Amino acid sequence: MKRKALVSLSGGQDSGTCLFWALSEYDEVEAVSFDYGQRHRVELDCASRLASRAGVRHTVLELGPAFRQMGGSSLIDESIDSRFDATGTGNDYAARHGLPSSFVPGRNVVLLGYGAALAATRGAHTLVTGVCSTDDAGYPDCRIDFVRSYELALRQALDEPAFRIEAPLLDLTKAETWGLAQRLRCLDEIVEHTHTCYHGDRSTLFDWGYGCGRCPSCTTRAAGWQQFNDRQRQQTR
Ligand SMILES: [Zn+2]
Repeated sequence: MKRKALVSLSGGQDSGTCLFWALSEYDEVEAVSFDYGQRHRVELDCASRLASRAGVRHTVLELGPAFRQMGGSSLIDESIDSRFDATGTGNDYAARHGLPSSFVPGRNVVLLGYGAALAATRGAHTLVTGVCSTDDAGYPDCRIDFVRSYELALRQALDEPAFRIEAPLLDLTKAETWGLAQRLRCLDEIVEHTHTCYHGDRSTLFDWGYGCGRCPSCTTRAAGWQQFNDRQRQQTR
């Protein structure tokens, strides 16, 4: 039987790397992206371009109206300030849990649920996600405990005992994710065709990709790139 995986592709560095990881591990790969009304469309554009360059079928599920109705996060509601301390921003959930105002409560519950439903429809027994517990340590729906318990729940829901949620980056640092991209020979694809910048800025191309170079997302991506390159130099000495 052909092994088929569905990759949840946001258009960022992590899920982009997961797409190439899946292509190296499975006989057949498809990708799914979620339009949940995120402020910047550039990530979704990147997801479409990356999927097309990798030659995989790509589906964009439109979840915008539901997420807009729920509101509550600076990621989808422009009236909410984007801050690391969400106190007073209007994202009360994030303020109570010590999370940034961009946090969307339960987002991965919804997205992985839709991903699993589409995977079942398409005959894929594996859903691949780029969740990473090292940099999103405070995000309860990015932790291993949630991923493993949701996997068990989905096996029940789909009556598919072999259904898996693969999270190949779960324990990797950003530098290690760059290293994985290099081993998968997709470093240039990830640099040029994924997007991380919080401001949706694609005017400047740095060594590590496009961005404003200043926001927390850009500085995290740049720091990982720097660490990856420092290690490369140490190893070749
Ligand atoms: Zn930026």
